[in-house]
Amino acid sequence: MKKIAVFPGSFDPITKGHESIILRALPLFDEIIIAVGINSDKKGYFPLEQRIKWITQVFKNEPKIKVQSYHGLTVDFCRLVKAKYILRGLRTSADFEFERSIGQINKQLYGDIDTIFLLTQPEHTSLNSSIVREIVRYNGDASQFVPDGVKLIKPE
Ligand code: ADP
Repeated sequence: MKKIAVFPGSFDPITKGHESIILRALPLFDEIIIAVGINSDKKGYFPLEQRIKWITQVFKNEPKIKVQSYHGLTVDFCRLVKAKYILRGLRTSADFEFERSIGQINKQLYGDIDTIFLLTQPEHTSLNSSIVREIVRYNGDASQFVPDGVKLIKPE
């Protein structure tokens, strides 16, 4: 059976931290679905279509990587796409505590799912999408924090 992992997140926008986790996880799975969660309470800073376009462009030469958006519970999306693994990145002990409870609840909701964690590379520990958004909001240059080819455009 095909080993499919879902990498869920907002990717608002994708950063070098996300890119590194995905590339390092690639040998572990037959397919990784980057799943951009749509949260009706939280619109996001960059438009959804733009976020998906950037991710698609970054991994255009990787046939094992797919990009999709989803509504609702991550475990329901996993069931839908027949994924048995959720991929997450860990930066700090705060990430661990947060991820531990979500991972355990997800396992209770869907017994077939397991969450696989990869530790971030040291140089990406302090990197997150909200810092990138903040730099863009105040017209700074955040290009060093996002994958090559991602041209950040300040939303109107
Ligand atoms: P969320 O909205 O769920 O926080 P994100 O888009 O911020 O989603 O992140 C998705 C996943 O990527 C999470 O597992 C998060 O820990 C991981 N991640 C984010 N930034 C980094 C980074 N710099 N290094 C490693 N993992 C990261």
